Amino acid sequence: MLKRRTCAHLNEIGNVTLPREPAVCEECVKNGSSWVHLRTCQTCGHTYCCDSSPEKHATRHFHETGHPVIASAEPGEFWLWCFVDEQITPYTI
Ligand SMILES: [Zn+2]
Ligand SMILES: [Zn+2]
Ligand SMILES: [Zn+2]
Repeated sequence: MLKRRTCAHLNEIGNVTLPREPAVCEECVKNGSSWVHLRTCQTCGHTYCCDSSPEKHATRHFHETGHPVIASAEPGEFWLWCFVDEQITPYTI
């Protein structure tokens, strides 16, 4: 039986932070790039683009800052992703 790892990083998060409207990747806006999906960093609240986007700013943000958890910023998607544990956690609102 597989032992399910638990992500301790989620304990440091209170309410899920979602992007301010209009939701944009702040880095893509700066350099004129475009994105596919958006993710919001749960440590600092900034919003960046997903790994399907050319610039992968959410992953880059994790490597630069160590901020471990992002939430999907897409409407109707309710999940968190921890880069450290590589674990997705659905949540309900
Ligand atoms: Zn974690
Ligand atoms: Zn981006
Ligand atoms: Zn951050």
